[in-house]
Amino acid sequence: MSQLGKMATDDILLPSNATQRPRVEERAPYNAQKNNPMPGVYRSRLPNGKFTNLMQVMFTDFCKMDCHFCPNSHWVPRKRFGFKVDELAKTFNELVERQTVQGLFLSSGVAGTGSKTTERMVQVVDLIRNKYKFNGYIHLKVMPGTERNIVEAAHLLGTRLSVNLETTTVEQMNKLSKMKHYQRDIMDPMAWIDELQRGPTNGAIGQATQFVVGAADETDLDILNRISQLYADWELKRVYFSPFRPVRYTPLEEHPATPMQRTNRLYQLDWLKRVYKFSDSEIKLGFDQGGFLPLELDPKQTIALENLDAFPVDINVANRDQLMRTPGLGPVSVQRILQNRRRAKISRWQDLALMGVVRKRAWPFITFPGHRPEPAKQLRLDNLLNQERKTRTDGGTEHLTKNRAEVTRETQASILADPGEPFGTQTTLTPTPCGIRSNCDGCALYNTPGHPGSTKGKVRYTPSTTFQKAKQPA
Ligand code: SF4
Repeated sequence: MSQLGKMATDDILLPSNATQRPRVEERAPYNAQKNNPMPGVYRSRLPNGKFTNLMQVMFTDFCKMDCHFCPNSHWVPRKRFGFKVDELAKTFNELVERQTVQGLFLSSGVAGTGSKTTERMVQVVDLIRNKYKFNGYIHLKVMPGTERNIVEAAHLLGTRLSVNLETTTVEQMNKLSKMKHYQRDIMDPMAWIDELQRGPTNGAIGQATQFVVGAADETDLDILNRISQLYADWELKRVYFSPFRPVRYTPLEEHPATPMQRTNRLYQLDWLKRVYKFSDSEIKLGFDQGGFLPLELDPKQTIALENLDAFPVDINVANRDQLMRTPGLGPVSVQRILQNRRRAKISRWQDLALMGVVRKRAWPFITFPGHRPEPAKQLRLDNLLNQERKTRTDGGTEHLTKNRAEVTRETQASILADPGEPFGTQTTLTPTPCGIRSNCDGCALYNTPGHPGSTKGKVRYTPSTTFQKAKQPA
């Protein structure tokens, strides 16, 4: 249980420091040992925002396949484990009865054939549903190469099904495995799941998939193109991104690991697409010439910097789409702004903060009475944009292998070294609250009204009367 629970954690990954977190099935190890000492139990967030404990386990970590990135592949010489069908069903039932878990995430290596393995996993779920009368959440992985009749059985018993896509194209899959057939083993089962979901039979709702980022040297643009096609053609609920980690004994053991920050950026990109409804052409503004997202800025900020003509937006008159495209504003804060400004004009940063606006990111991009970004601020934006462009052009794909701290240090150093910098010599690398400069000393904007780095006149905040009025129901 311990070994198979640990191996299953590689299947769904969550960036711990993602600014915009995925809503479903975040992987967050359940740390409260005294409350829940079981290995293989993970705390997951559901679409309604609540948390639940899932038993996350592999049926077996034996796999006959040759995926170059996988610790379960046949390349790795180590002892393997596996459950018997009734043993796993019984173990899960005991955990449910003890109220340790409320759901199951079941994955596996390919033991024998994909169909044979998925069939045995379906038998486990069948026992859980019919013998132990469990009606809760079960996420079932469908193994590559599973035949249609087994996929249909899985559809009837699971709550959610997923097949791991791993990479974006046939050519890239050929780099990662000589045994997996991209179309026949992966795309076909995914197409059947989609077809079954749309059919009249009650069954699993919502298909998900997962990419191993960086293993096949694909670009972020390749990933965007693939997920756009999946969202357009199928009712795909979610895409998960797992950073490539070299595994000893595999052909990719010398390949550099993918920084976690890259998967964070991809989760943000996915969020822009699904929640903020950015079009692909807008998202592509955020890519560099090599087809990668910069690691040092979130994609929404990069896109705004590439599209400065659209800013600043007037917070009191801008429409929903304009607000959603403004850095520092999310779906919740936009909704609150739209509701509150119907009753009273918004004219204070503090009111915006109460609505959930992130001032540090939003201040150069918005106007309202008493706050208008000055031309100098625009200059600074341009300066930042130039620096970003320089970093991307200079680094190319290479900067993706650097960790975030390195990239941040380099960006700061390049800003400090730039002779065109109009704000005097900088001596320290302490980030400023505005997030743009490295040091407030000598900055022309320091302590100007509305500037987030201002230390002057800080008073204890009380909401304005207009905002208090606005908060009252109509
Ligand atoms: S089929 Fe899955 S478990 Fe087997 S080697 Fe490939 S990625 Fe790993």
